[in-house]
Amino acid sequence: MVNEKSFLLGNTGSAIRELFEYGKKRKAIVGEDNVFDYSIGNPSIPSPSIVNETLIKLLKEKEATSLHGYTSAVGDLNVRRAIVEYINKTYSVNEKPELVYMTCGAAASLTITMNAILNKGDEIIALAPFFPEYRVFCEKAGGVLKVVPCRKEDFQIDFDLLAKSITKNTKGIIINSPNNPTGVVFKEDTIKKLASLLEAKEKEFNTDIYIISDEPYRELVYDKETIVPYVTKYYANTIVCYSFSKSISLPGERIGYILVGANCKDAITVYKAIAGAGRSLGFVCAPALFQYMIPSILGHTSDLSIYKKNRDLLYKTLTDYGYQIAFPDGAFYLWVKALEDDANKFAEHAKKFELLLVPSDSFGMGGYVRIAYCQDPLMIERSLPAFKKLILDYKK
Ligand code: PLP
Repeated sequence: MVNEKSFLLGNTGSAIRELFEYGKKRKAIVGEDNVFDYSIGNPSIPSPSIVNETLIKLLKEKEATSLHGYTSAVGDLNVRRAIVEYINKTYSVNEKPELVYMTCGAAASLTITMNAILNKGDEIIALAPFFPEYRVFCEKAGGVLKVVPCRKEDFQIDFDLLAKSITKNTKGIIINSPNNPTGVVFKEDTIKKLASLLEAKEKEFNTDIYIISDEPYRELVYDKETIVPYVTKYYANTIVCYSFSKSISLPGERIGYILVGANCKDAITVYKAIAGAGRSLGFVCAPALFQYMIPSILGHTSDLSIYKKNRDLLYKTLTDYGYQIAFPDGAFYLWVKALEDDANKFAEHAKKFELLLVPSDSFGMGGYVRIAYCQDPLMIERSLPAFKKLILDYKK
């Protein structure tokens, strides 16, 4: 017999992937331009040119055995130094390269972190709606995922509910801002309030509670006044799980890092547990070529103006049509209230108009659909009449 949990995970397709595959089949039947696929959060803007220029330079100039060889397991020291120098300068913090661990993207950062901090039965709080893989990573690491819904009016933290949900077993809380799937950003006052609640709970229970800050969308914000606070500045026991997948459009190359906040209690112990978890999960080291690329691309992003245009057009048009949407400050998703209670039925109904929208249940909350607007702007324009027909169909 194989491991039952692993079998079940491999056997259950993700709702998002299934919809994507359905879209491919529909395109073959009704034509590429007539299907409006909003399923997958795959960046649609190419990487900034500095990415390929740096890679070509490295391939031409760096000695091959070193370029393609193992780096140290925690990541190349010069790369970690460059990352920390950039972070310290950008966010006025005082982080340390010895507390940075290079990973294969945010998914690896998260699963390593969970395995590093969790003992059997420890609880991790996820604020719903949340990235569905949190449950997989937490439960496989022996933890219990406790779901705390956000406020429905703005998808910000419901602090009363959160305060009641924290117990002596709470080992951490995952925050993801800008958020997948809502696009909502937690601003400075929210992070400050969260920090003081967690500090009070640490005192009350005499425990350590970590903020796991899942940050693949950190740079994806569209208005000057939207500032994404650097969490280590506000709360000591912070572990940042970062990824370059979305900011420079490299999700297939698998590169990111974990940063243990310099003020984290027993930071070195936490870091060693991270290194041990990475080792036991078989990561060995993050891709060497992409590690060496990082010092040259820090501070660069893909051209985000296209996502901004997509967001503005979709948000305005759909709210004008009568859809209810939380205002998305960042990431590349819209979280839209379904027009009937059952989001699965609503998403099925939307297919009648060739609109592929992801039902919300796998994000830990019923009654919504997610729209990934990292799409060709022309497809978005073509899809607008379909959204109108869909809402009119419900008004009949
Ligand atoms: N966390 C969130 C919230 C995400 O949306 C994603 C990917 O979509 C990940 C983590 C995983 O990102 P990566 O591709 O860097 O593993």
